[in-house]
Formats: sequence, structure tokens, C-alpha cells
Amino acid sequence: MKDGPSPAMKQYYTAKAAHPDAILFFQMGDFYETFGEDAAVVARELDIVLTSRGRDKDGERMPLAGVPHHAAEGYIARLVNKGFKVVVCDQVEDPKKAKGVVKRDVVRVITPGTVIDSSMLGSPGAQYLMAVAPGKKGSIGTAFLDVSTGEFFVSASDGGRDYAELVSEVVRYHPSECIVPESSPDALAVRLRAQGLLVSRYRDDAFLPESARSLLCEQFGTNSLGGYGCEELDGAVAAAGAALRYARETQRSELAHIAGLSTRLSARNMALDAITLRNLEITKSIRSEAAGITLQGALDVTETSMGSRLMRSFLIAPLLDPEAIGRRLDAVEYFVGNPMARADLRSHLDRCGDIERIAGRISYGNAGPRDLLTLRESIERIPALKDLFTDETPENIREALEAMSDLSATANFIARAIVDEPPALARSGGMIREGFCAELDELRNLSTSGKDWIGQFQQQERERTGIKSLKVSYNRVFGYFIEVTRANLHLVPEEYERRQTTANGERYTIPKLREKEAMIATAEDRLSVLEAEVYADLVRTLAACVPELQATARAIGHLDVYAALAENAARYDYTRPVIEESGRIVVREGRHPVVERSMEVGFVPNDTDLDGSGNQIMIITGANMAGKSTYMRAVALLCIMAQMGSFVPARHATIGIVDRVFTRVGAFDDLASGQSTFMVEMLELANILNNVTPQSLVILDEIGRGTSTLDGFSIAQAVVEFLHGKAVTGPRTLFATHFHELIELEGKLKRVKNFHFAVKDTGRDVIFLRRLVQGATDKSYGVHVAELAGIPKKVTERALVILKEAMVQELKGGGKTPRYTQMLLVDTGEGVAETNPAVEELRAMKLDEMTPLAALNTLHRLQNLANGGNGRR
Ligand code: ADP
Repeated sequence: MKDGPSPAMKQYYTAKAAHPDAILFFQMGDFYETFGEDAAVVARELDIVLTSRGRDKDGERMPLAGVPHHAAEGYIARLVNKGFKVVVCDQVEDPKKAKGVVKRDVVRVITPGTVIDSSMLGSPGAQYLMAVAPGKKGSIGTAFLDVSTGEFFVSASDGGRDYAELVSEVVRYHPSECIVPESSPDALAVRLRAQGLLVSRYRDDAFLPESARSLLCEQFGTNSLGGYGCEELDGAVAAAGAALRYARETQRSELAHIAGLSTRLSARNMALDAITLRNLEITKSIRSEAAGITLQGALDVTETSMGSRLMRSFLIAPLLDPEAIGRRLDAVEYFVGNPMARADLRSHLDRCGDIERIAGRISYGNAGPRDLLTLRESIERIPALKDLFTDETPENIREALEAMSDLSATANFIARAIVDEPPALARSGGMIREGFCAELDELRNLSTSGKDWIGQFQQQERERTGIKSLKVSYNRVFGYFIEVTRANLHLVPEEYERRQTTANGERYTIPKLREKEAMIATAEDRLSVLEAEVYADLVRTLAACVPELQATARAIGHLDVYAALAENAARYDYTRPVIEESGRIVVREGRHPVVERSMEVGFVPNDTDLDGSGNQIMIITGANMAGKSTYMRAVALLCIMAQMGSFVPARHATIGIVDRVFTRVGAFDDLASGQSTFMVEMLELANILNNVTPQSLVILDEIGRGTSTLDGFSIAQAVVEFLHGKAVTGPRTLFATHFHELIELEGKLKRVKNFHFAVKDTGRDVIFLRRLVQGATDKSYGVHVAELAGIPKKVTERALVILKEAMVQELKGGGKTPRYTQMLLVDTGEGVAETNPAVEELRAMKLDEMTPLAALNTLHRLQNLANGGNGRR
């Protein structure tokens, strides 16, 4: 290409230069082509053949991959779902009429965070665009916008925010895309990308608080943001303004359904950081993608997408205000007590479409005919749904019912306008019902009567020519024509003009037929243009009810969630928790809501008596597999469920408000991240110790495990002391450990209590009873567990020998070396006075003359002795 790029390619380079970070779909006739690196990505991600054509600017062959124009949506959807941005550049004039090169323009920018097409929205869950505005003094403002539903909020906290909090928000809301200012530090984008997020840099001026504020006010039609609770929060406002501007630009629309925003102060919600959300498997499971094993999976039996989204937002942000929680619980209790109303409501909801997203598409102007049908069917249910509630209902239900507007006029309007079985796409035509628009009906008549005329014409011509098999047919190339088979050609009248010869005969036309054809074609052209106009008009008219539709959708979501929570309560025997402002967590017969479902029978319920000023810290010992972590997680999940407004799996539960749940769980350290296990552990621990408050709940599973015994033990003990000294009350702490030395803290620190998981020792076997008992265990049964797991005898026997040696060493050295008892079969009676006869006997034992079994038996007897002959505690 010695003359440089062709005019079309010049257009391409211009468009590409404006969107360097997106894949450019460039229309060339019936295809969208992608070039260069874009083509390589498209070929790889969509499994499309990569070819090449011409030469690029540097004279290299230009890679090329194209998809057919009519199938582009599917390909674009796949790219966007994989996290790519796509820019569509269309031919915007008729190539036949173009003088020179066809004009092309960027008509759409599709990014993962701003998709709105139903075909592209992968899941019914919320799909957030996140914006991050780093502010003064290290504070960070964030905003979340779901373009598909119009949901818009900023989140803010009282103090400055750090990256860790940002990451928690990413985990909490898992946005599809995030925008940050062009000039923001690389560290920010790197942190966000590490969460698997698509991060786009967006121009700085969009993040200026002043311009953001005026854009938001203009969008909402207000003159201040005071009503949204974020007037003072510059960072949050900047982020919200940038998100809105970005969404408007990519959508090329005013997005009228985004009509306000809310401010989520973290002071109103229980804080669940990323680590805790993960460790407790609230919305995602640690090991696999199976949803069933998350709390969300266990609780979300909602019937609608609106309910499902709301359920998730309840789960990830439980409340702190006992009254607000009480109002939710009242609503759930109502449905527990009215199983008929619940069942009826749920069966209505079952057939309810995603009104919220359809409303979003209506205001965006791209709602399809089937969307409108779904909308009509959904809102037609509302009166019947409201009629289910004739008696007095709790406040939250009443509010929801009141928020559901009477939309029968809208339903009637759609019913009059749209046929009962409309096509999926508006451009297919045929969706407007007869009688809705007189002009449309007239054109339809013209086209039908034209077709009738063709029928009659065929009959007349058959009679006139005597050709019985004469046919008038239609194809797209020739339009209408008269078809005569070879055998009858001699009967063809003179005035027939031949148009085409086929294998079987000839095709003709005559002026009369041509005229009619032109008339029909014009009518049909006008028909499709007019129908599209009428439809677009109709969608514009419906846009006026978008705020009502949104309010109704939200109300439906609430009813759905309360009924679903009641459904769980009834099915799984949950009880209403007592919520109070106190430092207590009192649970009778509490169960793990997820684990109990995975077991047919036999889940052992356990009690909890935490009280910040009495039983503040529970040190829980017990063998591996005894049930420690299941128990501790269950306590945390119960608090989360209670504060989100759900009933809980227990016979009784009193929950003193928990402001924040912290977890440090050892088992799942991600080896892939490259950080040492111990470093990860210490980072997480530091976060806990720096942020814990007297109202928090702390779950620590095996801390100090990732380092040497001595280090680990010292850290573990120091942490307990720190948490104990944190305040006169709280933070409530559950601490599972293998460091038996920690049990000695019970006497030394006032609010520390020992617990262990009971086992039944049959002599040869250990049976886990999974029952929590006050006091410390004296055994750890590590070797028994190893045997149960099928570790070869040789190894377990050798373990016993090492164990004995270690014990002797220890006793010689004064018996005070902290040790990691995971592999210990028995406790050596630490803390027992050296004058104990057991110690004397131990010292005298001839170890090299004993078999392992004899050693074991002796140890057993010695231990009894050490414990004053009373056997085990
Ligand atoms: P630990 O943390 O003490 O090693 P886990 O809490 O992981 O033990 O429990 C081990 C297994 O025991 C779990 O996988 C679970 O199936 C079972 N389990 C735990 N708690 C109970 C319980 N209360 N009732 C019945 N089974 C339980």
C-alpha cells in the first residue's frame, strides 16, 4: 500500500486512537472487522479465524478477524463478559448513496460495568460500575452504579479510608468494572486489578467535586446533594459524578432512570471485610464455585431477581440498629405465622419478571417487545398480590405494599399496544396490536389487500391464459413474478415480459403486476418505518412511569426477601433472635446453617455464652476434626443472620449488636500469592488488632501456626492478652488453638474461659461427640486422628516414640517449653508439681525396653495418676 492507508482505514485509525483501550468493531458492509492486536484478541477469545489483509502503517501485514454483522451482539456479549471493552463503529449512511467513502461513527461503547442489553447481562445479580476518587489526606471516595437498574450509591465512612477497605468493597459488591482518575497513582490501579477487576482510567476533570456535584444535581433535578446525605463528602461526590459521566458517555444517553443516589455510611452497617466475607463463605465458597455451600446459597430462596439482589445486599451489609433489625424480623415473623399468605405471595412472585431491569431498559430506550409483555404480565399481578394482605401487617410489609403504585393503566396501555406473542426484537416488526394506531392499520390493510389482489390476479391470469399451473410468486431479488412451467410455454400471451429462465420454466412480469408490487413494497417499507416509530414512541411514553416501576420493583424485592427468610425459618426450624445493645451473645442449641444442610442427620447443636464483661474470650481446644471451626463460624454466621433480619438456626439466640466480625482462619492460606503463610497471617492479624472495637466479634482459628512453636505460642498468647486488655468489655473472641499452654490463661486473665470439644475414648478408638464442653481438654489425639486417616502404622508408631522422647526431654529441661501439641497423644500434665508420683515414675521408666503399646498404656495410667487418679477432666 504505497499510497498509505485507504480512506476507510484512515477512519479506522481515527476511531481507534480515540479508544485505545477498547476492541474496535468496525463495520465493513455485512461484517464487523477487527484489526491488529484487537484481531488477535478476538480470534483467541472467540475462537475465530485470524486472517490478514493489506498492510498496516508500517507496511506489515495487518491481522484481521471479522464477525457477521447480524450475529455481532452475541460476540460482543462474550467479549464484554470476559472483561473487555468494545467500541462499535457503524456505517452511518447508506453506502449506495455515499459520495466517496461511507461515513462511519462510533455509535456504542460497551463496557462490562455499563452493559444494559438483556442479551449481555450474564446473571440477574447487580452489575456495578465502580468509581474510585482518591481525595485529600489519603481519603478515598467510592461510588457504585448499576446502569441496568438505576441503583446508585456512594459509600463513605467516618474516618479516612485505606486500600484494605477499598478491597473489601470490591469483594462486597463485586463490580464488573472500575474507573479511576487518569492521574491517580499506579498503586491504586494495581491494587484493584489484583482483585481481578477491569480498571479503566478516566479523565481527571470528571472527578472534580465541583463539576461532579453540578452534573449530579442536573441529573436528579435538585440544587444540592444534601437530600442524599453526601453533600459534604467530596470524595464520594467526585466518584459518583465520574461514574455517571462515564455511564452517560458510554451509553450515549441521558439515563433518566438514574434519579437519585443513596449514601451508605459504614456506621450503619456491620463491617465485614474481604477476608471475613471469604472465610465465612458468605457469598462465595473458598474451595469451589458451588453456590450451595455459601450462606447466600443456603438462604436465597427468593422467587425474583429483584429479591435475590436485595437478599445479597442484606447479607453483605447487616444492620446495626436494633430497631431497624426488629422491623425486618417483624416482617419475617409475619410470614412465618401466615404460611398461606407466604405460599400465595411466592407463587405470584414466581411469575414476576425483572421489573427493575426492564424499567432500566425502558428509560434507556432499548426495551424489547417481550420486555414489555413481561412487564405487563408482572404488573398485572400486583392487585392480586396486594389483596393477599387484608389484615394488619408489620411496618416493613405495609411500607412495601404502599410503595407499589397502581400500575393498571400502564398494564392496559401495554395490552392495547403490544400483541400477545411479540417478536424478541423490535426491528422484526409485527409487535404493535391492531387498533392501536390507525395509520399503521391502514398501511397493513394496504399491504394485505395488495396481497389479496395478487391472489385474485393469479386466478384471473390462469383463466385468461388457460395455464392451470400458472403461479404468482415472490422473491427478494425479482419481487413478484408470474411463473410458467416449460410444458405451458406455448400458452404464454404476448404481453408477458420475460425476466428469468429457470430449470423448470420461465418467469415473467407485466406492467400491472409491477405497479402493484411497487405499491405493496412502499406500503411495507412505510409500515416497518412507522411501526418502529410507534414502538419507540410507546417506550418513550412508558419512560414516564419508570420511577413508579422502580419503587414497585424495590417493594417486590422486599416482600420476596421477607417471605424467603420466613420460608427458611419454617423449613429448617429457625427462631427469631433477640437483638439488643449489649455485649452478649447467648445461643442455645445453635447450628451451622450451611453445614447442617449438608448432613442428613446428626448435626450436634451447641451453646454459646459470650459476654464482653464476663466470658469475653473462649479458648477452644480439641483435636483436629473435633468441630472447632464449624462451631466458631456458626457463631459468626448467627450474628450476621440475626443482624440482617433473618431468623437463626438455634433454639434461642440473644445477640448483642456486633459492629464488625473479624476472622483469621489458618487453613486456606493462598500459597499462590507468593507471600509466606506466616506473613499473610500476621498481616491479617495486624488488621484485626488495629481495628477491633469492644463491640466486635473476633474468630481466631489456630493463629501462630505458620511459624516456630515458640514464636507461634508467644504471639498467640500476646494476642489473647491484647484482646483481653482492649477494654473492660469485649471484644468477644473465639480462639481455637492447639497450644495447650493457652489454657493456663483462664486463671490469669479474668474474662478468659476454656472450652473443649468432647470426645469419647473407647481405648482404641476416638469418637468425636462434637459437643462443646466447658474446661480444657487434656488430650489432643493427634496420633489417633492420623490412624483414622489411614496413615501407615509404621509412621504413627514412630510418632509415639518421638513423642515419648520429646516428653523426656521436656521433663529434663524443667517441662516448661511450650510445644505444639498437634501430634501429642496425651498431655504430659503440664503445670503439675514435679513432686507428683507420676513424674517420679516417668523418670524411672526404661523406655528402650517398652513396646509402643506398653508405653501407651503406661502413659495412660500415669496420666490418671497425674490428675489425682480421677481420670480425665
Ligand atoms: P476442627 O476445626 O476442630 O478441625 P471442623 O469444625 O473442621 O473441625 O469439623 C470437622 C468436621 O466435623 C466437619 O467437616 C463437619 O462435617 C463435622 N462437624 C463439625 N461440627 C459438627 C457438629 N456440631 N455436628 C456434626 N458434625 C459436625
